[in-house]
Amino acid sequence: MIFIKNPEQIKKMQQAGRITGEALALAGEAVREGITTAALDKMIRSHIEKCGAKPSFLGYGGFPGSACISINEEVIHGIPSAERYLQEGDIVKIDVGAYIDGFHGDSANTFPVGKISVEAQRLIDATRESFYEGVQAAQRDGARIGDIGAAVDGYVSQRGYSVVRKYVGHGVGKDLHEDPSVPNYGTPGHGPRISRGMVIAIEPMINAGTGRVIDQPDGWTVITADGQLSAHYEHTVAITDEGPLLLTKVD
Ligand code: MG
Ligand code: MG
Repeated sequence: MIFIKNPEQIKKMQQAGRITGEALALAGEAVREGITTAALDKMIRSHIEKCGAKPSFLGYGGFPGSACISINEEVIHGIPSAERYLQEGDIVKIDVGAYIDGFHGDSANTFPVGKISVEAQRLIDATRESFYEGVQAAQRDGARIGDIGAAVDGYVSQRGYSVVRKYVGHGVGKDLHEDPSVPNYGTPGHGPRISRGMVIAIEPMINAGTGRVIDQPDGWTVITADGQLSAHYEHTVAITDEGPLLLTKVD
């Protein structure tokens, strides 16, 4: 069931979104060679708690961190660790959620560690751009959820990349993951109609090679099946009369 948010609820979600976006930006600025993923996680947790919010991911299904931090071929759900040091040339995906006043925010980005390859940068850029293609598709009159995925998939496929199909975007609200599912693939004109008051996480997970992924034995980390790079970009997006509002975008 899709929960439609009224303007007052969307206002509350703006607060959750702002804290989420700030925590993600802080961690992104701290990304550098030699820092551990646990140190980034700690920064995220302390910012969220300082704002009077709770890290949405901490304890979610037993997840031990406040953020998911995934390096290179790791797609999503990487567990922060004091033994994982970032290295020059890595790309690191940080995925953050914050909960305050009854609502969640959810946002992710992919950051370069020092100088990265041209190919890695191209993947990061295409992933971010595909998100905006998805947002554009969502704001057309009469748009449906399938239009978003078709736009994302169309954009990255043209560039030789693959969308991850096993994991998808989702509604956001009182629960971190609500209906509807928002896949990064789809058929235009299909799926639930996108209407005012819907709040959804649009989150392309884009692989340089195959879209197939493998769940790791740690029970969380998801990696690309072929070991090639993956990038992730996500905002919590509210559908309003004025068009899509990116609740987690702070810059
Ligand atoms: Mg997320
Ligand atoms: Mg999400």
